[in-house]
Amino acid sequence: MAEPAYQSPVSVGRSFYEDTVERPAYPALDGSVEADILVVGGGFTGLSAALHLAASGVRVVLLEAHRFGDGASGRNGGQLGTGQRRSPEELEAQYGYEASRRLFDLAEEAKAHLHETMATHGIEADYAPGQLSVVHRRRHLDDYRAHADLMAERYAYPHLTFMDGDETARRLGSARYFGGLRDTGTGHLNPMKLLVGTAAAAARAGARLFEGTAVSGLAREGGRVVARAARGRVTAERALIAVNAYGTGLNERVDAHVMPIGSFIGATEPLAEPERVLPGGEAVDDSRFVVRYFRKSADGRLLFGGREAYTSAAGDIGRHLRRQIAEVYPHLRDVALTHAWGGSVGITMERMPYVRELEPGITTIGGFSGHGVMLSNFTGRLYAERVAGNRDRLAAFEALRIPAFPGGRRLRSPLLFLAMTWYSLRDRF
Ligand SMILES: Cc1cc2nc3c(=O)[nH]c(=O)nc-3n(C[C@H](O)[C@H](O)[C@H](O)COP(=O)(O)OP(=O)(O)OC[C@H]3O[C@@H](n4cnc5c(N)ncnc54)[C@H](O)[C@@H]3O)c2cc1C
Repeated sequence: MAEPAYQSPVSVGRSFYEDTVERPAYPALDGSVEADILVVGGGFTGLSAALHLAASGVRVVLLEAHRFGDGASGRNGGQLGTGQRRSPEELEAQYGYEASRRLFDLAEEAKAHLHETMATHGIEADYAPGQLSVVHRRRHLDDYRAHADLMAERYAYPHLTFMDGDETARRLGSARYFGGLRDTGTGHLNPMKLLVGTAAAAARAGARLFEGTAVSGLAREGGRVVARAARGRVTAERALIAVNAYGTGLNERVDAHVMPIGSFIGATEPLAEPERVLPGGEAVDDSRFVVRYFRKSADGRLLFGGREAYTSAAGDIGRHLRRQIAEVYPHLRDVALTHAWGGSVGITMERMPYVRELEPGITTIGGFSGHGVMLSNFTGRLYAERVAGNRDRLAAFEALRIPAFPGGRRLRSPLLFLAMTWYSLRDRF
């Protein structure tokens, strides 16, 4: 078997979301511009920061290497979830109750922030409520039940209820899972619609947005930050690096702490009998280490994500996903996939975001480890708050201990590949 190659970030295939919304083009940078703040990367993190900075009167320039939505933010599962990527149980064990509760409360604020942003700026992103977290091995049931109790008692979160096997089968339209949790306090949306709407709102607020402009170098010169691109440069007081898993080579510390993992999704044709699948319209994630996640789109397709790849070979996305869909919904064995695509999830060793001031005036935010739809948008806003100097809620994320991936530049990817393969094999038993 060939040795796993270094995996460069992937955005393969045309996503279903690209066919649901018009993406207006923004110009490429041509010449030299000055700004108070430079943002590198136009995903949720960067565009949300640009929107809130511009809205508070800051001169902001954002440079995006490709088009808005070509990174993870335009290609994901659209599931908001609740809390952080790591559970309150794990965070409490590591950091104590106060810090864990603070992180949970911030994630609740992130949900509220998303709804407020959509309402304020008239962004229609097909939001639908409900999340089912389901158990693929009976032995996980007690943990899930205990989690619902803990969330109600210690975290004042009343929206989780335990589902037995029968209720789970009824809500899923599938007998494949043994039970799980129903969360009525969260939901899912079309991420590309959210991203396109956020970019438009940022531009209206006065942010100068550029696409097709990859930053090839970022350095401090004479007390200011200077970014170089093929046909121009930006000089700014401060910079935010929001490149997540797609920015390999821009900054060594970001590369060492945020690694790309491929994740793949398919969209079926509109289902012939949509009421047989998720009749309540919730989104689903399961208990596998290599999580399977699915939901129905606003027009009644099944969007199903699951396979992750730890090498550069994306393989035949559609073939793998169809097999997984048929395991959960045997009656969809022959359903056609109209779209199959992949994107890079930025993960960290601790599966919590990497937020750091890398050097004076240069901050990075990324590595949401598959849990960034609400948190990346929110941390973008928290960065703007910090710049404005009125609040500093970003500090709670900065305080997290996020070690670099072991193995140095050459061995990082092969080691991650081995670790992930080990855990994904455990999903089968
Ligand atoms: C397939 C998939 C499914 C997912 N599902 C979910 C989910 O259901 N729920 C959830 O919460 N999260 C999910 N995620 C994760 C979520 O999408 C991310 O956490 C979030 O979008 C991160 O946003 P971001 O702005 O930090 O990064 P990105 O959206 O990746 O944006 C980074 C941008 O930086 C740009 N860039 C990189 N280098 C440069 C450079 N040198 N110069 C200029 N620009 C540069 C890139 O082109 C890119 O557009 C999923 C991710 C994937 C890939």
